[in-house]
Amino acid sequence: MRVHIVGGGLAGLASAIRLAGEGHKVSIFEKNSHLGGKMNLWQSEGYTFDMGPTIITMPAVLERLFASVGRRMSDYLQMVSLDPQWRTLFADGSQFDLYSSLEGAVAEMAKFAPEEMANYLQFLSYSHKMYDISDKWFFWKPWGSLTDVMKAGTMGPQSLSLAVSIDPMTSMHQAIQKHFKDPRLAQLFEHFVQYVGSSPFIAPAILCLIPWVQIGYGCWYPMGGTGAIARALTKLCDELGVEVYTDTAVEKIEVSNGKVMGIITNGGQLYPAEAVVANSDIVYTFRDLLPGKDSEQYLQKNAAKLEPACSGVVLYLGCKKRFPNLLHHDFMFSADSDAEFRDIYERHIPHHDPTIYLAVPSRTDPSVAPPDCEAVYALVHTPYISSEYNWEKNAKAYRDTIVKKMERCGMEGLSDSIETERMITPVDLEKLYWVNRGAIYGVVTKRGLTSAFKTGNRSPHISGLYFAGGSVNPGAGVPMVLMSGQVAAECVLEDVMAKTATLAAAR
Ligand SMILES: Cc1cc2nc3c(=O)[nH]c(=O)nc-3n(C[C@H](O)[C@H](O)[C@H](O)COP(=O)(O)OP(=O)(O)OC[C@H]3O[C@@H](n4cnc5c(N)ncnc54)[C@H](O)[C@@H]3O)c2cc1C
Repeated sequence: MRVHIVGGGLAGLASAIRLAGEGHKVSIFEKNSHLGGKMNLWQSEGYTFDMGPTIITMPAVLERLFASVGRRMSDYLQMVSLDPQWRTLFADGSQFDLYSSLEGAVAEMAKFAPEEMANYLQFLSYSHKMYDISDKWFFWKPWGSLTDVMKAGTMGPQSLSLAVSIDPMTSMHQAIQKHFKDPRLAQLFEHFVQYVGSSPFIAPAILCLIPWVQIGYGCWYPMGGTGAIARALTKLCDELGVEVYTDTAVEKIEVSNGKVMGIITNGGQLYPAEAVVANSDIVYTFRDLLPGKDSEQYLQKNAAKLEPACSGVVLYLGCKKRFPNLLHHDFMFSADSDAEFRDIYERHIPHHDPTIYLAVPSRTDPSVAPPDCEAVYALVHTPYISSEYNWEKNAKAYRDTIVKKMERCGMEGLSDSIETERMITPVDLEKLYWVNRGAIYGVVTKRGLTSAFKTGNRSPHISGLYFAGGSVNPGAGVPMVLMSGQVAAECVLEDVMAKTATLAAAR
């Protein structure tokens, strides 16, 4: 069968690998000149910067992809585990290192807030429980609604106890506040929801699973930079004979009588196919690639659940000096995290005292910066693009706010040490990857039985159309989009098998 993939992000690559591995003819169409999407690279003056994801969790999802085509991940990637995983710098000057190992975690908590030790261990056990529920009921499934779950018929009488245990109406903020008395620990664990670009006030308690994903299963770094993952998957696509068209935008998904016929590129050429996997942003896919009344209706009806997740500003700073107080990953927290979340998600303005996430991979990997230098990546989460804030006008001033805060929080001499620099804003993110309003993590995760579900991986209306990526099920972040790509491919394979069986029965 001929399958086209719209977009060569990680989800598109995962779908392509899974399908090519089963012997299908697969082509990827990518508007940029590189594959990997947001897992992008910038090199300047001897510094190498991963432009997008830097924290890699759940490597088992990637291992499963390699294994599905008879390969071993270790033959393609050298993954190292980071422990401690983060350094957290609080506004009051205190600091806390997050450890994966139990001994490290217990020793650090004994120093930081011994009275919270039992709460910490109880929270980890709660986070683990939320992870197990998600793994059993929601991961590796193509679901887009509660109806899909019910139709799958897998839940039965257990559904009631499941609904009670995930407590869909409780927010992540409420669940975390119940566990910790020390507001610094509540701030730290609430911040994990930023991995999916949501706010702890609107996200459901089940997202308390995220700390366990990292603390329980490790925080990983592929030597050479996270871009090594995109390069490994590109190599694998090549080995499996996937055709790749870079610098080629898809302008339309061609549909006739409710069935996919192929895609039309910006050159006006039709490439026929029996199936299409759209790795493009879901709002763009409906609005631009599938124009028409049905799409308009879908977008209108689902406006709440398609609200973009947060966006961000990233600074890439090549510094001719080292900052010994930093680990590979660091967070400089805001003084008032409630105000920060409300600014980003309710007022839609960037916060004046932002939480800054720093990646300093030169700590682990000397290949990314010249000797005695540091390749510093600083990410600040901001609202998605709206009329409330003009990035063209305000970007430079916001960059200075970030750099000044970094200097205040222990990076003395930063400004004078910068020898190469680049900044990307929400507007750049929108242009670079064609994501709705510059959203980094697809669509926002909200609580409630309908909003908690993202668009499913199989189109219920158009036969042969599938969706993969951060704006659809199961959501954003490297492991989730790799899962999304594999699940979309499995839907294609299931549908091919079902058709073959029907044809055989008819003969
Ligand atoms: C700054 C930043 C930091 C992040 N940090 C982390 C992190 O530390 N850990 C983590 O796990 N995740 C992180 N993420 C999120 C993670 O990068 C994404 O969830 C994931 O990479 C998205 O993959 P995707 O395949 O869904 O989409 P994308 O990477 O967006 O790929 C989609 C591709 O489709 C292409 N495309 C779109 N429309 C068309 C069209 N019509 N024709 C042709 N091509 C098209 C785009 O150009 C793009 O290459 C970060 C993201 C950013 C931007």
